[in-house]
Amino acid sequence: MEPCIFCAIGKKESPATIEYDDDDVVAFWDADPKAKVHILIVPKKHIPSVTELKEEDAPLMGKMIWVAKQLADKKNIAEDGYRLTINAGKHSGQMVDHIHLHLMGGGPMGTMV
Ligand code: AMP
Ligand code: ZN
Repeated sequence: MEPCIFCAIGKKESPATIEYDDDDVVAFWDADPKAKVHILIVPKKHIPSVTELKEEDAPLMGKMIWVAKQLADKKNIAEDGYRLTINAGKHSGQMVDHIHLHLMGGGPMGTMV
């Protein structure tokens, strides 16, 4: 298996600005932020994409959303709102093949349509 940058960050083998860390999930700032607040919520388990999720992974995905909600509160962006995004596969432009939830906020981002 090719080395995975998000697995490496989870194991503290690669640097990142970490905002949250526990046995299941790590959250850190996006290296190329597309919003004033742009944090990635990443499971420690290597799952390449939503397209490869198994039913057993559902609680972990729920936990990632819960961590995102707590980080939005911590960063004071909850009142004005934020976007949670998961890219999956080629047409979405997914670049890192380790599932991750983008938390983006801190200013208006426009509508998606
Ligand atoms: P996606 O297009 O959903 O796969 O998004 C991948 C995101 O990971 C992009 O927004 C990148 O800027 C970000 N990224 C890639 N490598 C790193 C890294 N080493 N540390 C933090 N963010 C990264
Ligand atoms: Zn990985």
